[in-house]
Amino acid sequence: MCGIIGIVGTTEVASALYDGLTVLQHRGQDAAGIATVDGARLRLHKGNGLVRDVFNQSGVSKLHGRIGIGHCRYPTAGSTDMEEAQPFYVNSPYGIAFAHNGNLVNTEVLRKEMFEDDRRHIDTDSDSEVLLNVLAHELQLEDRGNLTAEHVFKAVSAVHARARGGYACLALILGYGLVAFRDPNGIRPLVLGERETVGGREYAVASESVALDVLGFKRVRDVEPGEAVIITDGGQLHAQRCAPDAVHAPCIFEYVYLARPDSMMEDVSVYKARLRMGEKLAEKILRERGPDHGIDAVIPIPDTSRTAASSLAQALGVPMREGLVKNHYIGRTFIMPGQGERVKSVRRKLNTIELEFRKKNVLLVDDSIVRGTTSKQIIQMARDAGAKNVYFASAAPPVRYPNVYGIDMPATAELIAAGRTVKEVETELGADWLVYQDLEDLIWAVSDGNEDLKHFDTSCFSGEYVTGVEAGYLAQQETQRSDAAKTERRSA
Ligand code: AMP
Repeated sequence: MCGIIGIVGTTEVASALYDGLTVLQHRGQDAAGIATVDGARLRLHKGNGLVRDVFNQSGVSKLHGRIGIGHCRYPTAGSTDMEEAQPFYVNSPYGIAFAHNGNLVNTEVLRKEMFEDDRRHIDTDSDSEVLLNVLAHELQLEDRGNLTAEHVFKAVSAVHARARGGYACLALILGYGLVAFRDPNGIRPLVLGERETVGGREYAVASESVALDVLGFKRVRDVEPGEAVIITDGGQLHAQRCAPDAVHAPCIFEYVYLARPDSMMEDVSVYKARLRMGEKLAEKILRERGPDHGIDAVIPIPDTSRTAASSLAQALGVPMREGLVKNHYIGRTFIMPGQGERVKSVRRKLNTIELEFRKKNVLLVDDSIVRGTTSKQIIQMARDAGAKNVYFASAAPPVRYPNVYGIDMPATAELIAAGRTVKEVETELGADWLVYQDLEDLIWAVSDGNEDLKHFDTSCFSGEYVTGVEAGYLAQQETQRSDAAKTERRSA
C-alpha cells in the first residue's frame, strides 16, 4: 500500500509532485519522499511521516528539476525504518532513483541471486531495493554507452522474467528520463496522463487518476500489464509490452477499500463500482431476509463504506443515516500496533449519535471486515446507544487469506474470518445477523464498469494467487505479519 507519482515537465516539478503525493496520502502515511533530476545531479529528500510533515516550503523549493518521482509509503514488507523510505537510489549505472508500490513473492531468491551472482549489495530488508537492483543490473547488461528505448525495454523484460509479484514502478534514470512499468498481471495500478502547457506537452504517471486530476493532467490510459512506458528528458514517449501475455488480474481490494472513490482504475469508476457493491448486497439481503427485513436504518461505518451503504439503503428502501461520526484527526485504527492500542483507538475515532440507534433495528455497513476489531467495537457501541437489533453487512466477502501483492493484511491467525464460518464470525462479532458480499457479486460490481476485465486478484478472499507462491513463502509472511513481529520491529 504505497502511492507513486512521476512527472516529466517543462518547468520545475517538485511542488506538483508534493501536491500529487498529498492526494495519494491515503495509500501510505508512514514515509514520503521526492527525487528530482537537477542537471547532472539527483536531488532527493525523504523521511518518516505524512507528506506535509516530511516536506516544508524551502525543502520542496530546493528539489530543482523538470523531471522527478515521489512516493508515499505504507510498509507491507521490511520494517518502518527511515532507511526504507523511498525513492531508493543506486549510482550505477547512470544513477537511478526508484519508487515502487507492491510486493514481490520471490524476494529472498532474488536477494540471494543479487549477492551471489550479480555482486550487488542490498542494504535494507525492502523488496523495493531488491527490485531496483535487479533493474540496475539488467540495465548494466544492456549498457552500450548510449542508452536507448530498446535497451530499456530489454532490461524491463528481464526484470519481469526474474521478479514475481505485484509491482508498479517508476525509475528515474539520470541523463535519460522516466521509466514506468507494471507487473505482467497488472495487479498494482498505474495510470498515465498528459497536459499541454506553453512550454510543450508534459506527462505524469501515478498510482491513481485522482492525482492527475488535481494537477490538471488528462487521464490518457492505464499503463498496460507488463508494459514499460518511457518518457525521455526531451519529452518523447515510447511504450512497449515487455512480458509475455499473462492473465490481467488487477487487485480487487483497490476497489473495495484502498483507492479513492474519485479515481478511475482500468477505466472503472471506483465510486460506481462501490455503488454496485451496495446494490448487489441489497439483493442478497432481500433474498435472505425477504422484503420484511425489519431494518429501520442503514448506518455506514465512515468513510469508505458510505458509497456502498448509500446504494444499499436505496435498494432496500430504508433511510441511510449517519449514526457514527469520525474524528479525522487521528490515524487509521488499523495502523496502530498491537491489539490493545487498536481497540482503544476505535472508540477514540468514532462516536455514536445516540438518537439514530435508540430502539431501532440498524444495519451497519463496512467495506470489509479484516481483524474484526472495528466491527466488534461498533456493534457494542450501537447496543450501548440503545439499538434494538444490530445487523452487520460487509461490502466485501470474508477476508480469509493473506494478501501477498502489497495490501497490508495481518497474519492469517489474526483475520477474524480465517477458519470460521459466517455464523461463527457473526457470533464472534456479537451481531444479530451478519451478511457478506458474495465474491462473484463483487467481481460483477467491478467488471460491469469495463467488460474487458475478466479476472482479478481476489487472493485474500479466495486464497488463489495468480503468480503462484513458492513453498514456504506464506509461512514466512505469517511470522513477519503477526502483531508480535510488528511490535518487535517497531521497538527495535
Ligand atoms: P478490522 O477491525 O480489522 O476488521 O478493520 C476493518 C476496517 O479496516 C474496515 O473498515 C476497512 O475500511 C479497513 N481496512 C480494510 N483493509 C485494510 C487494510 N489493509 N489496512 C488498513 N485498513 C483496512
